[in-house]
Amino acid sequence: MKILFYSTKDFEQPYLLEANKHHFIIRMTEAALSINTAEMAKGFDAVSVFTGDDVSAPVIEKLHENGVRYIAIRAAGYDNVDLIKSKELAMRVANVPAYSPYSIAEHALALMLALNRKLITANQQVHRHNFKMNNLIGFDLHGKTIGIIGTGKIGSILIRILHGFGCRILAYDIQQNNELIKSFNIEYKSLEELCSESDIISIHTCLTPQTKYLINKNTIQLMKTGVMLINTSRGGCVNTAEVLEGLESRHIGYFGADVYEKERGLFFYDYSNKTMDDGILMKLLAIPNVLITPHQAFATNEAIGNIAETTLFNITCWSENQHSDNELFHIPFEKTPHTLTEKANILNPAR
Ligand code: NAD
Repeated sequence: MKILFYSTKDFEQPYLLEANKHHFIIRMTEAALSINTAEMAKGFDAVSVFTGDDVSAPVIEKLHENGVRYIAIRAAGYDNVDLIKSKELAMRVANVPAYSPYSIAEHALALMLALNRKLITANQQVHRHNFKMNNLIGFDLHGKTIGIIGTGKIGSILIRILHGFGCRILAYDIQQNNELIKSFNIEYKSLEELCSESDIISIHTCLTPQTKYLINKNTIQLMKTGVMLINTSRGGCVNTAEVLEGLESRHIGYFGADVYEKERGLFFYDYSNKTMDDGILMKLLAIPNVLITPHQAFATNEAIGNIAETTLFNITCWSENQHSDNELFHIPFEKTPHTLTEKANILNPAR
């Protein structure tokens, strides 16, 4: 197996090398996958991609033309991958469904606490030797109503954590988790009820056509004045322009986000010496009650290590003509045409 890892960052490369126990031939590039960079995959059997990579139908066709048969996603979310096209071309696709839901849930909590207790402002003031605290008043989380949208792996962990804080927890999901009701006394509500009753709303759904812009001016209008909105799921789950309007009118009190709908090509890069032409992001960054982190919620040793291990596990399964449990759809092995390396091995078994 020859694998090309797109969008690799310095910090994850040692984890990937450590996880490559089968000594596959791997190449890592910082370049993101796009229609312009798909050519780089020529001669590789598999590519590995991250959340900002463009794995749309035309890109998949180009990868396929270049002999790629496997796509290993180094993330849980796969909204950037056209699964229909991959299946049509019998290309296997697998993700890392759970690497550490704790890392994301804990980051969502970090955003909540940092915004509420004004930790960024406090730190900046103290560094300027200003020890006044008139503008640093927050509120107890204890007794507050928190709305969790999406009670899957990450949402469930956050519920467990917030239960420890003594919060009342409301939830919205298309699938009810009765264990959470039993263990943490959560109340499933409609999206409208959750929006109108919550002091803090945290989003943990996957991005699908149904959840695109789930938070928009209509749902914002239902929210309490001063509500805190946290998004660590996918940027597209909220209409950012309408969240900005909500912040400017002071209807939304705080906004914490680890994801942004236009993050591709921006997050993970250094723009400190470049001009940014994203007006919405610039306005958001100028608001003191907004805290944005650059899609770093997964950035813990445990999560990055598990991502590398599971990605290499998926590829190992394929190299042994086995299915991985993490494949996103099922296709029988005989349907996947041989890769260039496999064809070469058949012609010359001594290789
Ligand atoms: P999960 O699949 O375990 O949970 C997602 C939940 O969303 C499920 O319970 C599902 O029923 C629910 N859902 C689906 N469609 C819905 C709809 N229309 N309305 C309401 N609920 C709906 O996923 P997870 O592992 O908990 O991840 C949640 C999100 O976090 C994903 O978007 C993922 O991409 C994102 N994520 C972000 C980071 C990061 O670094 N910021 C890292 C990992 C995952």
